[in-house]
Amino acid sequence: MKIGIVGGGPGGLYLALLLKKHDPSHEVRLVEQNPPDATYGWGIVFSGRALSFLEETDPDSFADIDRCLERWDDQAIVHRDQKVVIDGFGFSGMSRLELLRILQEHCRRHGVQMRFQQRLTDLSLFRDCDLVVGADGVNSVVRDLYAAHFQPSAEVLTNKYVWYGTTKVFDMLTLTFRTNEHGAFVAHHYRHSPHQSTFVVECDAETWANAGFAFMSEEESRAYCERVFAPDLDGHPLLSNRSLWINYRAITNQRWSYRNIVLLGDALRTVHFSIGSGTRMALEDAIHLFHALRDTPDVPTALQRFEETRRPGVERFLGVAARSFVWYEHFRDKLHLDPLPFAYDYVMRTGLIEHAKLRERSPRFAAAYEAYMASR
Ligand SMILES: Cc1cc2nc3c(=O)[nH]c(=O)nc-3n(C[C@H](O)[C@H](O)[C@H](O)COP(=O)(O)OP(=O)(O)OC[C@H]3O[C@@H](n4cnc5c(N)ncnc54)[C@H](O)[C@@H]3O)c2cc1C
Repeated sequence: MKIGIVGGGPGGLYLALLLKKHDPSHEVRLVEQNPPDATYGWGIVFSGRALSFLEETDPDSFADIDRCLERWDDQAIVHRDQKVVIDGFGFSGMSRLELLRILQEHCRRHGVQMRFQQRLTDLSLFRDCDLVVGADGVNSVVRDLYAAHFQPSAEVLTNKYVWYGTTKVFDMLTLTFRTNEHGAFVAHHYRHSPHQSTFVVECDAETWANAGFAFMSEEESRAYCERVFAPDLDGHPLLSNRSLWINYRAITNQRWSYRNIVLLGDALRTVHFSIGSGTRMALEDAIHLFHALRDTPDVPTALQRFEETRRPGVERFLGVAARSFVWYEHFRDKLHLDPLPFAYDYVMRTGLIEHAKLRERSPRFAAAYEAYMASR
């Protein structure tokens, strides 16, 4: 089979690797607009400490990924300078560039044809392919080319965010809330390597306008955020990498495939970064699509199977992500809460966990919250 993949992010690379490794007679061609060693952003975080789904699917690439993972058992909320630790909320993180390097290396080893620094504007390059995959991210060209068939929709959130790095190494995934004369900010930060952390700054539209970010250069915005979070950065700088303020777009598609063309990862649907699952979902899409192609005799049936098996889980998850982003859109209204009830409100925001379950998963945090409530 001839397979053309647009986009060399985690989703496209992982699919290419799985298909070629399973059947070396496949011709798998992947085109990526960026050079192999370039990426936006800094780190990625995976919810959960264990990534058994990657280990089960391809132990070889997992072994390399595993070596680069930073893991932590707890999460923290900093509000009014007080750190509330939420035990039992484990995550793991790694550098996005490292993940891409590992997947590229495994693709190369198995004979995937990768072409970098070529931006596709149509699919003529893949005219001869039996299957074409749009793994080209949130601004997918493939999705736009066939928008009439995929029927995408986008909800644009009002909060603004910007993705920085820093040399300060944080001990666990932390959300730090800070206010100043212009409004309220939250930073989502975690270490993604032994030497660096990711630092995503988010604020509501009013704060953003009051601060005058619209009239600031990239460097001025960076310096401003550094001042807001000076107590947390301990003198370390924020690092910029095309770090520009953006609005999150929640993308979904009515249809997932058209003829022999299918979308996956962020091209198919985005997952709000506050639940740390965008990369995981792109990798899981790749696994589901690979299984469907492996287990069904022809491409149209496989694409149908992919959607049938994957859609219910995705839609459930998007409900969780939506409840999470709604919480962030209104976090400023909750800042009057003391740190413990504030952290509790955050933990409960998606409705995924009830208090009884929280007691099992986070006994220390649940006990601290109960003691706080009893003291009132
Ligand atoms: C601020 C922020 C924080 C995030 N934090 C996390 C996190 O902590 N954990 C997590 O799991 N996820 C996170 N995500 C989401 C994560 O980055 C994406 O969900 C994930 O990268 C999706 O993988 P993908 O392969 O579908 O797309 P992408 O990683 O976007 O890859 C798409 C690739 O296609 C290429 N491309 C696009 N158009 C073309 C074209 N026309 N021709 C050739 N190539 C093209 C792009 O250059 C890119 O390399 C975050 C996202 C944002 C915005």
